[in-house]
Amino acid sequence: MSSSCPMVTSILEENSKVGEGCKIINPYAGCSHGCVYCFAYRRALKYSHFWWGAEFKVLNYSDWRNARPIGNAVELVEKELNETQDGIKSILLSSITDAYQPLERELELTRTILEILTEHRIPYLIATKSDLVLRDLDLISKGQGVVQFSITCEPGYQAKEFWEPYSSSIEQRIKP
Ligand code: SF4
Repeated sequence: MSSSCPMVTSILEENSKVGEGCKIINPYAGCSHGCVYCFAYRRALKYSHFWWGAEFKVLNYSDWRNARPIGNAVELVEKELNETQDGIKSILLSSITDAYQPLERELELTRTILEILTEHRIPYLIATKSDLVLRDLDLISKGQGVVQFSITCEPGYQAKEFWEPYSSSIEQRIKP
């Protein structure tokens, strides 16, 4: 995967599986969590050049884990919300990445998007495997945000270490 940031033509995506009026924002291309079962990684091997342009073709697992920020994400979120806000009931972050990549710690790209959603009073759901989301509780606790953590477990077996080797530990996800 290229080391520069992909630029996309639109950022608010629709998917019938998430319900009418719900849009999806994927602020990063790729996902450093590198879950073994990841459907997005498998689809990216075929379609990454459609999703993020020819320079970001994902060739292998290492490319996939080298997650990059979408370079024009903030600009497009503002533009597209101003154009289409009336029909938007909620936003999901995210479907083909985790909005809390390690780079997010310094870039604050997802945080900036949450600030915009808060200004527009649009409810959002964050599905993440990173405890970095705790950094943004001040925004999320304003009442429009919900955080969803999934936990992978299998009795007598280190399932998380096998299936989700690079995401936050189970303990980090459920700590008070
Ligand atoms: S967190 Fe989600 S997008 Fe990221 S590797 Fe795991 S399953 Fe794929």
